[in-house]
Amino acid sequence: MKKNKEWVVDVIEEVAYFGKGKRGITRLAFTEPDLKGQEYIMNLMVEAGLTVRKDQMGNLIGRLEGQDKTLPAVLTGSHLDTVPEGGKFDGVVGVVGGLAAIHYLQDMGPLRHAVELIVFVAEESSRFGFATMGSKVMTGSGDITAWSKVKDQNGITFAEALSEQNLDIKQIRLAKRNSEDIKAFVELHIEQGSVLEKKGNVIGVVQTIAAPTRLKITVEGMAAHSGSTPMEERHDALVSASMIVLAINEIALDHSSQGTVATVGDLKVHPGSINVIPGMVEMLVDLRGIKQESIIECLQEIKDAISTITEEQDTIVAMEMMSAEKPVDMSPEISKLIEQSCVDVGTTYQLIHSRAGHDAVNMSKITPTGMIFIPSKNGISHNPDEYTEYDDIMVGIDVLAETLYKLAK
Ligand SMILES: [Zn+2]
Repeated sequence: MKKNKEWVVDVIEEVAYFGKGKRGITRLAFTEPDLKGQEYIMNLMVEAGLTVRKDQMGNLIGRLEGQDKTLPAVLTGSHLDTVPEGGKFDGVVGVVGGLAAIHYLQDMGPLRHAVELIVFVAEESSRFGFATMGSKVMTGSGDITAWSKVKDQNGITFAEALSEQNLDIKQIRLAKRNSEDIKAFVELHIEQGSVLEKKGNVIGVVQTIAAPTRLKITVEGMAAHSGSTPMEERHDALVSASMIVLAINEIALDHSSQGTVATVGDLKVHPGSINVIPGMVEMLVDLRGIKQESIIECLQEIKDAISTITEEQDTIVAMEMMSAEKPVDMSPEISKLIEQSCVDVGTTYQLIHSRAGHDAVNMSKITPTGMIFIPSKNGISHNPDEYTEYDDIMVGIDVLAETLYKLAK
């Protein structure tokens, strides 16, 4: 039966209870709160009459059968895991909203295509350093060799985390889905930005999803006594690194009109002592945008800036590309269907780009994919203050249900 706002509020609040801490919600991938959250959703899927299974990676899948078993399924879904001290809407809205939409579909009458709700595991990179692992496996794009070497902060390997729930890292490849079995994927998600709020629109129809280029920059200077080394004789790695941080910020500012952003999010100073001139600094850079040319230009400018700085400072810099993915376009056909659904539902909408990565990036490699955004208050996300109005969530669910219906009827 069609679920009302009260039900949606209840379920989202209930999910927020799993992993609730002093500050925000910590529901890291494959930890107990994450699994408890999945179990809670699984029970709701069963109650809704869905056929429920977990794949070899632990992705939770609830399926509403269609009348014609030979037709490919229409998929929706998102994730339940969070960053440390995260909020209650990122990912959860797409899972709970997806389930609410399936209830709508059950009311709308028999569908020819099956509809599946997927709870992707390990969307956030917080625990193992890799993002969207569940959807990567499902689309056959995960670097499982690299994954088999990673450990979390407590020294637990990814393989051990899997085996704790009777999953075998050697089997996860079997979770790959075939394109022929899937008609489309549509994900409902909070914007995690402030474009919709500023423009006063309720729905964003996502056109492109930015993909991060990640760099590790290592600056080598010379560690020396902070008292006895004269200023003009120093090779201070942190001074060079600081200049690089400022240069990256400047370069990204120059490109911001193209939708490109860059962040130095981590800086490690060695040996990290008050009386030693820093001998080495490692920094992690996250560069992303929706225009590939702008990203390539930024990369070149960062390289140029680094060579100028290191020449002046007489330090040595190594730059390692940790990942470089291209921005991903959503399917124009699905995007049109979402727009039409906004018109049918009678809500305000606009086209939008996503700066954050999502499971939809991977899914788009095997099936026509679209994303529906709803506003994030003040653009805040990955933070306990993350908030989305429940009225907006309800509109998002209406648009999702309408879109799934058009695809599955
Ligand atoms: Zn998310």
